[in-house]
Amino acid sequence: MSRDNFLQTASKQTGLPVEEVQKLLREKFGKFKADCTGKYMVYLRQCKAQEMEKKIETKEPKCPYHGAKTFGTMKWCGRWTKIPSWRCEVGGERCFLRAKMDGFLEVHGIKIDWNNIDANV
Ligand SMILES: [Zn+2]
Repeated sequence: MSRDNFLQTASKQTGLPVEEVQKLLREKFGKFKADCTGKYMVYLRQCKAQEMEKKIETKEPKCPYHGAKTFGTMKWCGRWTKIPSWRCEVGGERCFLRAKMDGFLEVHGIKIDWNNIDANV
């Protein structure tokens, strides 16, 4: 795999911008070697995880449903959910998923009464 190809692929897989990938690799490994891409990916994933953990630490949102304390978790952070997830002290990960769902519904102009779910059907 060529250097440029690898940078593109690594950027797509980690969600880090190409320039960031380039910078991280140059600082850590120096000159690009085509046979080290496996090692590079492992390192980039670590960098990404650290970046996410930092975001979680600095954010600490309150649960929009319980107003309770939340704790950062990487559980729902991945290919589709590109933001760090959190767990509510009262409702657990359910609250994070509900917040994601409510955000999605809002974008589509749909309102759901969760306490009376039958009324929405
Ligand atoms: Zn909650």
